Amino acid sequence: MSQNCIFCKIISGEIPSKKVFENESVLAIEDVNPVAPVHILVLPKKHYTSILDIAASEAGLADLSQLMAALPQIAEELGVEESGFRLINNCGEEGGQTVMHLHFHLIGGRNLGPGLI
Ligand code: AMP
Ligand code: ZN
Repeated sequence: MSQNCIFCKIISGEIPSKKVFENESVLAIEDVNPVAPVHILVLPKKHYTSILDIAASEAGLADLSQLMAALPQIAEELGVEESGFRLINNCGEEGGQTVMHLHFHLIGGRNLGPGLI
């Protein structure tokens, strides 16, 4: 738990969210400002400031592994496991990260095309 972190407050239940998946180490919620019919944020329950924090500890690597392990269930829950989706991580200022709690955007529900930007 990091003070003043909006996602830590969502994880603790202090701020409401629309949960689509949860297990002991991972939470997936609907993004409040969706850019596609499916726009989910997948986050570790433990606070990591960014993807760059992960490699600093075995616990970080284990938490990232748990998050990746949950993806098939999350994709199935959202109905995009067959159609496909895009997984995005924004890191740092120029990477467009606005919430400093590691998260992955899972976007789909329409044809996203090949473009990355
Ligand atoms: P990023 O720019 O990668 O840090 O993405 C942050 C994302 O969090 C944005 O897509 C926001 O729409 C989303 N967001 C911000 N506050 C909330 C919230 N309270 N509940 C759900 N999504 C949020
Ligand atoms: Zn946090």
